[in-house]
Amino acid sequence: MRAATTMALKQAAAQTPELARLAAAAEVKRPPPDDDGPLYAPRRKIYPQSVHGTFRSIKWALLVVTLGVYYLLPFVRWYRGPNAPDQAVLLDFPTRRFYFFFIEIWPQEVYYITGLLILAAMVLFLMNAVAGRVWCGYLCPQTVWTDLYFAIERLVEGDRREHMQRDRKKWTADTWARKGVKHFLWLLVAWWTGGAWVLYFADAPTLVKELATFQAPFVAYAFIGILTFTTYTLAGHMREQVCVYMCPWPRIQAALTDEYALNVTYRYDRGEPRCAVSKTKELRAQGRPAGDCTNCKQCIRVCPTGVDIRAGADLACIQCGLCIDACDAMMKKLGRAPGLIGYDTDINIKRRQEGKPSFVKFVRGRTVLYAALIVVAGAVMLYSLATRHDLALAVIHDRNPLAVLLKDGSVRNGYTVRIINKRLQQREFTLSIAGPPDTKLATLGTERDADGRAVIEVGPDQTREVRATVTHKGPDDVSMAPITFYATDTASGERTSAEDHFHGLEEH
Ligand code: SF4
Ligand code: SF4
Repeated sequence: MRAATTMALKQAAAQTPELARLAAAAEVKRPPPDDDGPLYAPRRKIYPQSVHGTFRSIKWALLVVTLGVYYLLPFVRWYRGPNAPDQAVLLDFPTRRFYFFFIEIWPQEVYYITGLLILAAMVLFLMNAVAGRVWCGYLCPQTVWTDLYFAIERLVEGDRREHMQRDRKKWTADTWARKGVKHFLWLLVAWWTGGAWVLYFADAPTLVKELATFQAPFVAYAFIGILTFTTYTLAGHMREQVCVYMCPWPRIQAALTDEYALNVTYRYDRGEPRCAVSKTKELRAQGRPAGDCTNCKQCIRVCPTGVDIRAGADLACIQCGLCIDACDAMMKKLGRAPGLIGYDTDINIKRRQEGKPSFVKFVRGRTVLYAALIVVAGAVMLYSLATRHDLALAVIHDRNPLAVLLKDGSVRNGYTVRIINKRLQQREFTLSIAGPPDTKLATLGTERDADGRAVIEVGPDQTREVRATVTHKGPDDVSMAPITFYATDTASGERTSAEDHFHGLEEH
């Protein structure tokens, strides 16, 4: 089909220059990659040039939002009641609680964290299936912080050309001063990044005061130091090397993607053969092929990872779209249509070469599957959050001995009973059991109500453990008989239960 189309275009090409160009374009292929390069190439310092355009604006907006959220979120307050912290997002390790606005996660509920991680993974997979490495190009912390560091570098050392020229010349006092200011600002950002991190683990305003007066715990200073070092090193010095050599996601996403995912693509069907601006008109007038790419290399100069997108898919391309902005600006200057580089697929390039229209296929098996998994995982989490109980009971049977024979011939089992009160008020519970006949519950260190039942007070948002024994006196063999423990709120009547077994002596 493709050969027939090309042949038809070639025959018609003799008649009009435009058709000659189309015929040539139909034969155009992406330039072959240079396979003769060394296996290891030393790092080349990248001086990305500033650029303006749609994708740059999107990246600025996301940078402000993501960094704003990261730095300011610990100071957002969320009133939960008199007995709970009022920090909206708090990882409270001493009390083993995770607070996220209206959600409070207890250690027994780590499955919520698992659910969140599954949800995040599915969203990442869906983003990848729709538009490639959107995460890498716009939202990954490495990208965001590196972008910020580039902005500081340009502010202090100038844009690409000025910076390169100054670096090539003998360093003067001015060069040293600029380098010093840049590294100072980088360290300041890194230090504040580390500072913001520790604020998620304690009451932020209190910890800020303690840090400023050197009264904070040593671990807080240690973590600020670690985060300062990693931010400064990864965003300031390692930059694209983190994406190329350290991060596993480019490899994983390459295995997850398919031919319909939109990626930042050089439309070589339109760009090749590359042609200097001055010659394009002349060549086209003669009916000879001349693509829209002027080989100005602006797309390479603005690239934060130094990739030439025209050479095809590259692991180092984080899909940030800045080369689209650079190329569109060049096309605008030349009075040509934008989009020589854009979000596209190789399938579309081939279709256009065959004279077929391009298309975008968002609804595919994998996108539907990921979207369905997101909906299901989200719904399950929402349902379990909406129906979660603020009372729980856990019972652990003594492991050794399982059963004890008493002087009077009765058999006793020991248990540790834990009542979990997730309400922010103190509550009082009675403990009771349902099990084999002739069994009696006793607790240590608790009060008893008028009916002789154990009464246990549990503080707000706390758990309480009590020792309990169940004694059986009777002729029946009750070995491995199921036994149910009940904790009942004396005020509201709310009740929860936990299952266990009663062990007889015959098992030994
Ligand atoms: S090639 Fe383009 S999209 Fe890829 S990293 Fe470079 S500028 Fe960003
Ligand atoms: S910016 Fe556009 S015109 Fe210039 S080299 Fe890159 S693809 Fe070609």
